[in-house]
Amino acid sequence: MLKSKKIVVLGHFGVGKTSLIRRFVTDTFSDNYKVTIGVHITKKVVVISPDNTISMILWDLEGTDDIASIRKAYLLGTHGVVFVFDIARPSTFQHLNDDLKIVSAKIPNTPLLVVGNKIDLVDANELKTTLVENSISVDFLTSAKTGDAVNDLFANLASQLANDA
Ligand code: GDP
Ligand code: MG
Repeated sequence: MLKSKKIVVLGHFGVGKTSLIRRFVTDTFSDNYKVTIGVHITKKVVVISPDNTISMILWDLEGTDDIASIRKAYLLGTHGVVFVFDIARPSTFQHLNDDLKIVSAKIPNTPLLVVGNKIDLVDANELKTTLVENSISVDFLTSAKTGDAVNDLFANLASQLANDA
C-alpha cells in the first residue's frame, strides 16, 4: 500500500533545511546559499517493506526566525515535523525549547524530530558541551554537507509514519 505523508521542515534562516532535503532526495550538496521563498515541495518514495511504501511529501518552508508567524495553511494536514537548528550558530538554538513548544501547539499530536545540523563545523567535544549547556535534547545530529545521519533521520520518520493509518 502506498501512503502519502506530509512532512514539514522548520527552523530558522540558513540552518540547512533545504540542504537536508536536497541531500536526502538527490544525494547532493551545494555551498551556494539560495534563500527559499515561500514553499518548495519535493517528493521521495521510501520503501519500508514490500507491502508498505511511503510517499514522503517534503514541505520546505521559507526560513523564519519567528516560528510563531508560520502560516497555518502551510501546516494543515501535517503528518510529521522536522525541526532543524544550526549547531554552529547559537541564535538558532538559544530559544529552542520555546520554539518547540510553539511548534507542538501549532501542530499537535504529530511526530516531531529535533535535528542539529552542520556537525561538520564543530568538534565532538564542543558539540557535547553546547548541547548540555543549552539543555537541548536532539533526535539526530546531521551534516547535509557530508551526508552524516541524513538518511537515518528521514528513515526514522518514515518508519514512524508507516505505522500510522
Ligand atoms: P535553509 O535556509 O534552512 O534552507 O538553509 P540552506 O539549506 O539554504 O543552507 C544555508 C547555508 O548553509 C548554505 O550555504 C548551505 O550550503 C550551508 N549548509 C547547509 N547544511 C550544511 C551542513 O551540514 N554543513 C555545512 N558546513 N554547511 C551547510
Ligand atoms: Mg531553504
